Amino acid sequence: MKVSEILKEDKVTISCEIFPPKKGSQLEDYKGTVAKIAALKPSYISCTYGATGGTSDYTVEIADAINACNVPAIAHLTCASSTKEKVFSVIEELKARNIENILALRGDIPENVDFPLPDQYHHATELIADIKSRGDFCIGGACYPEGHPEAATMEEDLVHLKEKVDAGCDYLTTQLFFDNNIYYSFMYKVLRKGINVPVVAGIMPITNASQIKRSISLSGSQVPAKFLRMVDRFGEDPAAMKQAGIAYATDQIMDLIANGANHIHIYTMNKPEVAAAILDNLSSIFIR
Ligand code: FAD
Repeated sequence: MKVSEILKEDKVTISCEIFPPKKGSQLEDYKGTVAKIAALKPSYISCTYGATGGTSDYTVEIADAINACNVPAIAHLTCASSTKEKVFSVIEELKARNIENILALRGDIPENVDFPLPDQYHHATELIADIKSRGDFCIGGACYPEGHPEAATMEEDLVHLKEKVDAGCDYLTTQLFFDNNIYYSFMYKVLRKGINVPVVAGIMPITNASQIKRSISLSGSQVPAKFLRMVDRFGEDPAAMKQAGIAYATDQIMDLIANGANHIHIYTMNKPEVAAAILDNLSSIFIR
């Protein structure tokens, strides 16, 4: 099923995200994780492509495994580290496996290389236009409530975001944020810019101390005092930090839904127990 159809319905949706294995020998274990998260009946599950130092070789296979669990799958597809030819071959593979949803991204530009080479995409917008011309996919894109780190200004980023949507993006998913006011303020700017596609709010449960530095430096997100106090108080105690991180993410999600943001994406990062705890906390709010 296309994610654009799911987001059209007037109800709360909660989706999850996982990452693929680095080695083929880990595939079966990862499929086990897929099955555990799928059993929670999220609205859909997305699988990253080459993010956070991982590989891209198994994204399609994991997306296939998600669909096999009767949960709609999104395959992420980045282009900054690939030639157009490689991207086209992945698109054909997705078609062959009936994977209808692609989150189309540029990806981070690899260090110490010339970019873009003549056979590469420069921005996600160009990738989205090509995906659109090559098949009947539902295409998602990324957006950044605090501005993309490379953008000189928020306004410049929003201009490019509008171009991205006009190129054929059916919905957007945000970068993680820890302060909902940042999302509300972003939505005001998005609507004023004439961007009318659904904007799914991305929430990252921070459940251990090592995740904190990494997530914040990767995303460039602002950290509210309430969050810092939580980490300060519980960061050294793994069980307490996990419980507090789940409670913080639940609280963020409840506030978003209460304020009319119906579509939530949880960066579950292969932790079925974290996804289960959050969805359990929301069992009368997110009806599956
Ligand atoms: P773009 O939309 O191309 O934007 C990148 C920068 O270029 C922005 O500053 C934008 O303002 C600017 N720009 C855009 N168009 C133009 C133009 N025409 N002229 C000048 N400037 C322009 N990374 C992974 O490696 N794998 C993943 O699976 C992955 N999943 C993600 C999922 C989500 C929901 C999010 C929010 C991010 C994800 N990322 C992933 C990270 C993402 O790849 C990086 O943030 C990357 O740096 C930007 O990708 P993009 O598609 O947003 O790029």
